Amino acid sequence: MTEETLFSKIIRREIPADIVYQDERVTAFRDINPQAPTHILIVPNKPIPTVNDVGEEDEADLGHLFVVAARLAQEEGIAENGYRLIVNCNRHGGQIVFHLHMHLLGGRPMGRMVSQPK
Ligand code: AMP
Repeated sequence: MTEETLFSKIIRREIPADIVYQDERVTAFRDINPQAPTHILIVPNKPIPTVNDVGEEDEADLGHLFVVAARLAQEEGIAENGYRLIVNCNRHGGQIVFHLHMHLLGGRPMGRMVSQPK
C-alpha cells in the first residue's frame, strides 16, 4: 500500500489549498512556499510516490500533467515568455513530498537549469 501524503488530503479537499484546477486525473494548486511569481504544483490524483514507481498504466495520467501545465501557463500569462517544469525524485533530486508532482514555475527568468550544491 502506498502511504498517503498531505497531497492526497488536498486532492480530497480535506485540508485547505489554493486549488486552481482539478479533474478526474490531476489536481493543481499553488505551492505554499512559492519560488517564483507563478509556482503551481500539478499532481496526479493517484498517489504515485516517486518517478521510480511509475508504470505503463500511469502514462495517461502523467501525459495529462503536461496538458494541464500548458493550459495553466496560458492562464497565468507566462506561456509566451516561458517557464520551467520540474519533477524531483528522492534525496538527490530534492524531493520532500512523496506523492509525484510537477512544479510549474514562471513569471520571472528562472536562471540556470541546475544550481551548484552548497
Ligand atoms: P518537492 O521538493 O518536489 O517534493 O516539492 C514539494 C513542494 O510542496 C514544496 O515546494 C513545498 O513548498 C510544497 N508544499 C508542501 N506542503 C504544501 C501544502 N500544504 N500546500 C501547497 N504546497 C505545499
